[in-house]
Amino acid sequence: MKTFLLRLGAAGLVLLALSWGGWQLSRNASFQLFGGLVDRVETPLQQVALTFDDGPTPGHTEAILQQLDTLGVKATFFLVGNAMSDHPELAARIVDAGHQVGNHSKSHSRMVMMSPSTVRHELEFTDRLIRAAGFKGEIDFRPPYGKKLFVLPWVLRQRGTRTVTWDVEPESGLGKRPPAQAIVDKVLAETRSGSIILMHVMFDSRVTSLQAVPGIVEGLRGKGYQLVTVNELLQAAPATR
Ligand SMILES: [Zn+2]
Repeated sequence: MKTFLLRLGAAGLVLLALSWGGWQLSRNASFQLFGGLVDRVETPLQQVALTFDDGPTPGHTEAILQQLDTLGVKATFFLVGNAMSDHPELAARIVDAGHQVGNHSKSHSRMVMMSPSTVRHELEFTDRLIRAAGFKGEIDFRPPYGKKLFVLPWVLRQRGTRTVTWDVEPESGLGKRPPAQAIVDKVLAETRSGSIILMHVMFDSRVTSLQAVPGIVEGLRGKGYQLVTVNELLQAAPATR
C-alpha cells in the first residue's frame, strides 16, 4: 500500500511538472510548437516596429492616429474582431492612415483550450473585417495574452498564417499604471535592431502608454532607428528565426 501511494504521488508530481511546463510554454512569446512565429527580426537595418494591441475603441483610436500622424510614424495594429464589428469606421480609419492591421482574434479569449473549428472561426471572422476595412497586405496574427499551444499553432500553420509576438514589452513589470517616462526608458533600454515593441493604448487605463508614444518615437529616432510596420521589417530581412 505504501509503495502504491508513493507511486501515485510520483505520478502526480510528473503530471504537475508536465502541466506546469505546458503552461510556461503556452505563455512563452518566442516559442511555438508548429508554424512560423516571429518575435523579432534579424536585420542588418536599424529598423524597429511599434505595435498596438486591442480595439479599435472610440476616442482612443483617434488619439493614437493623431499622434502617429504628427510624428510621421507607420505602426502595426492588432485588432479584435468583435471591436472591429462594433466600430468598422475606426478600423477603416487605421487602414486609411497607412498603418498595418493584424488579426488579434474575434473575442480576445484565451485560445489554449479552443476546438479547431472555434479557432478557425476566430481567425476568419476577424480576417474578413480586416479586408472589409480595406487592408490589402498580408494579415499577421497575434494571439490574445500571447497564448498559443497545440490547436491554435496547428490551425495557423494549416492556414499559412504567420504569428507575430514581440520582444520588447515596456508596460510589463512596472506596476499598475507606469509613468510615461518609465515606459519610454524601458523601450529605449531594451530595443535593438529588428525589435517588435508591444504597446496598449486603446483603453482609459492605458493613458500613460499613449503619453509615452512621442518620447518612444523621438528617443528611438535619436538612436538612429527607423520605425516601420511589422511587414516592412520582415520584407527588409526575410531571414527570420
Ligand atoms: Zn490583447
